[in-house]
Amino acid sequence: MFRPSRRTLLALALLMATSASSAGIGLDRPTAHAADCPWMNKTADADQRARSLVQAMTLEQKLSQLAGVGYGKHFGAADRIRGIPELCVPDIVFNDAGAGVGDAQVGTTAFPSGIAQTASWDPALQRQVGAAMGREARQKGINVLLAPAAQPVRNPLGGRNFEYAGEDPFLAGRTGAALVEGIQSQHVAATAKHYALNDQETDRLSSSSDVDERTMQELYLPPFEDVVKAGVASVMCSYNRINSEYGCEHDYLLNNVLKGQFGFRGWVMSDWGGTHSSAKAANAGLDEEHDMFTDNYFAPDAMRPLVQSGKVSEDRIDDMVLRKMRMLFEVGVFDHPAAPQPAAYAAVVSTPAHRDIARRAAEAGTLLLKNADGVLPLRGFGKRIAVIGRPAGAAGAQYAYHGGGSSKVPVAGNNPNVVTPLQGIRRRAAADSDVVTYADGSSVVDAVAAAQAADVAVVLAAAGASEGVDRTNLSLDDAVCTFPSILGAPCVTPPGATPDELIAAVAAVNPNTVVVLQTGGPVTMPWLNDVAGVVQTWFPGQEDGNALASVLFGDVNPSGKLPFSFPKSMADTWIKSAQQWPGVSKSGDGVGKHSTYSERLLVGYRWFDAKGVKPLFPFGFGLSYTTFTYSNLKVRATATGATASFTVTNTGARAGAEVAQLYVSMPQSTGLPPKQLKGYQKLELQPGGSRRVSLTLDERAFSHWSADRRRWEVDHGNYTIRVGGSSLQLPLSATFAK
Ligand code: BGC
Repeated sequence: MFRPSRRTLLALALLMATSASSAGIGLDRPTAHAADCPWMNKTADADQRARSLVQAMTLEQKLSQLAGVGYGKHFGAADRIRGIPELCVPDIVFNDAGAGVGDAQVGTTAFPSGIAQTASWDPALQRQVGAAMGREARQKGINVLLAPAAQPVRNPLGGRNFEYAGEDPFLAGRTGAALVEGIQSQHVAATAKHYALNDQETDRLSSSSDVDERTMQELYLPPFEDVVKAGVASVMCSYNRINSEYGCEHDYLLNNVLKGQFGFRGWVMSDWGGTHSSAKAANAGLDEEHDMFTDNYFAPDAMRPLVQSGKVSEDRIDDMVLRKMRMLFEVGVFDHPAAPQPAAYAAVVSTPAHRDIARRAAEAGTLLLKNADGVLPLRGFGKRIAVIGRPAGAAGAQYAYHGGGSSKVPVAGNNPNVVTPLQGIRRRAAADSDVVTYADGSSVVDAVAAAQAADVAVVLAAAGASEGVDRTNLSLDDAVCTFPSILGAPCVTPPGATPDELIAAVAAVNPNTVVVLQTGGPVTMPWLNDVAGVVQTWFPGQEDGNALASVLFGDVNPSGKLPFSFPKSMADTWIKSAQQWPGVSKSGDGVGKHSTYSERLLVGYRWFDAKGVKPLFPFGFGLSYTTFTYSNLKVRATATGATASFTVTNTGARAGAEVAQLYVSMPQSTGLPPKQLKGYQKLELQPGGSRRVSLTLDERAFSHWSADRRRWEVDHGNYTIRVGGSSLQLPLSATFAK
């Protein structure tokens, strides 16, 4: 299928923006006043208001609400559904927001990518990020954001891992829920995506994720349940197939699980071009179509005959519209209209306060992986610092502040607001009268000379990633990855030495070498024993250099923790065959390949624990400039769950934040992996300070999905609670019987 690049679509989109939109704002249509629209009375609840609106709509008006105009045709947004002014229904404008209000918007803030947000383990900060995105969206004339990407990661090589929320469903659910709460606090609807099992970019429009029900329910679906509980307005169904059925016409996943089991009261929209049928999809639970070009399957001309012939009932059409209107009332989209166009398109809505949130989020998501002999933080005055590597400079930073594809802010082109690592370090170094030199790494000889002449060498290294393409290996590559175009390779690797070769050469001449990784997922580190420090910033957003400098110079004490395990090599992981990834053809299936989830529950730390394999760095790991100890665990069983309390003490010389983690080991009869994350809390402690932490565990924390009875159950037996600062450092434990 021909799919032009997003860049091409956006160029077209920008050309069309003004004309297409002014044509569609409802010219020649009477605009009603609130008094003519009883559902605008704010005293009724959202459901009542939506019901009275739907009752007042003609079939044609209802049909007009089921599909958009296509990608990028409205002021740089991803899509728009025209309002019904005579019924006080506003234009609904959809925009990507993986790491800020993106697509072709100008004047918005580029926040850290999803994985960096997740690495902070800080829901309160995540709510601030969401609220800032929501505020910017509304000022840009947007009322639905296409975030969070609340799905957990399956494969270390997954091309969109940088947008997602790590390998653990509990962490992914908490992170996604916080973003939803933040976005929706600003009267903008959030959209959880991509539902479900959208775990690879290879053959992303056709591949089938073949998985058993228990694996789905235990690992891949719970984050969606969490965001539903947080009140998410919309859920985006995914491109891929699940057990041969497309995500956007999957009766079990949409009707049974999402709307039934999870009690979702909002609406399901398709990913852009992810709709493949009209009646089948509508009856399977899809409520709204979006496409890259023109929406077809849910357009009035396609749906009208199906309603007339009874293939799609009018009740179902009512339900599709009701679900959306209910959430738009609930979130406040009707009562707090988005800013009008065309002024909103030109408005600069990024503020110093939002950039401050972006910087704090980047700092909080930054991890310290190694710090030998206290090489960090950088101390003293008049130091000579050699900054080395492509991602440190302007050209490279444009590809390392965000990953490629729809989550990038802006989706195509350079972002003039990115503070490069070199700029950030230079600015901060000036305060210490340090001397900073820069070698971009294109010449190893120059880089080595710079490192030799310096007290400390800071080497920036990236692994490029983009929507639309899986990574091929775990090596650093400094690749430039943009959304795949039919014209060329999606990731282009610069000529010359690889980042691994560059780091090894620098480390050989300077013992104080600190490597800064800018990647969207795990990488291998063949030079690990030869360098003094390793910092992971992920794709940190526009405050890149400022956040990095605060951590390197110790103005901020790093507190991020790994949201997925770093394996020593792909051979050490659970992905063992082409059947698992990228998939193989199956006879009789003319659509695409099948990826079999034969590893079942053994993904990430669940795999490493079960197999006794040591990862390079474990899930939940991250160092600080101070140290913490754990003591005095008390577990009290309650009627359905338990409460665990314990003490965390800062035993070092400076203030810092620790993410206390709680894992539960279930009885063997459950067949679950050795332990699973069921609680965490981030806490700030002064030097010598102690705090008692209390975590409440509900019944679900002790449940497993019974494949036979198709429900969550608690087995009798011994349950062990383990507490500590990473999945492999859990000094406290207590066992009790259920
Ligand atoms: C992506 C979605 C995105 C949508 C709209 C799709 O290609 O998979 O994540 O929200 O485009 O840009």
